[in-house]
Amino acid sequence: MVVERSRRECVLCGAPFTGRSFLCPTCSARYRSQRPDRVLRRRFYEAVDRHYPEWANTYGSYNPPVGLLRVLDRLPRSLRILELGCGGGALLRDLAARGFTRLVGLDLARTALAEAQRQGTPARLVLADAERLPFAAESFDIVIAADLIEHVDDLDAHVAEVARVLRPGGAYLLKTPNRPLAELYYRLAGLDDYPFWHPSMLSPGELRTLLARHGFLVRFVAQPRLTPAQLRKLPTRLLRALGAHLPVGWLPVVLRPHVEVVATRRLHG
Ligand SMILES: [Zn+2]
Repeated sequence: MVVERSRRECVLCGAPFTGRSFLCPTCSARYRSQRPDRVLRRRFYEAVDRHYPEWANTYGSYNPPVGLLRVLDRLPRSLRILELGCGGGALLRDLAARGFTRLVGLDLARTALAEAQRQGTPARLVLADAERLPFAAESFDIVIAADLIEHVDDLDAHVAEVARVLRPGGAYLLKTPNRPLAELYYRLAGLDDYPFWHPSMLSPGELRTLLARHGFLVRFVAQPRLTPAQLRKLPTRLLRALGAHLPVGWLPVVLRPHVEVVATRRLHG
């Protein structure tokens, strides 16, 4: 979520300001100390889709979970898959193209599901919060979430819900920014409102601890190369050209910009 510096209106209060953030300085400051509730978060994501359609993941696929897709390619196509934070449905359509047929997509923003519908995404689409999943226990083999958990308010409630809807032995495949690197980047880029839209970022170690607490076995997966959204954050054309060939998978997990994880729900306890 990066936008060039410009004169713009705050997506929450409408106040004009100059910057690269979605929120004005007043709103940015307020939500550094106060966590936004679900109603406000939904309003924010729907407003971003309206104000910045060319940057919203709803209308494109700039950050595919390339490491996780390699894992999925080796799995039976009959698996029941739930995608959390499906946005405009790009990943669901990719999964359908790979032969998966039992797909459900969930998102908090009505704008996202409207786009997924418009694109003819071959999945059941559900409007809901990732912290209260409207599904029966053990109804999925795989839950996948690319760039979702950093937006969630209550991580423990979220992971407990994912564990509940997965069958024992099922897996939670997720991708999320690497907190220390992401925070450094957001600060340097002047994105003062990041605590609003990424309130729950984790380091690889914090992510492992969270998932283990909810009965998951954790394996980090390497992404083979940088995604278009990651390349776009590099400041010069030369760096972007070099970055396109960087073998990210060779980096230790603490130095990767995003962390991709396969978390398997233990068969017992
Ligand atoms: Zn504002």
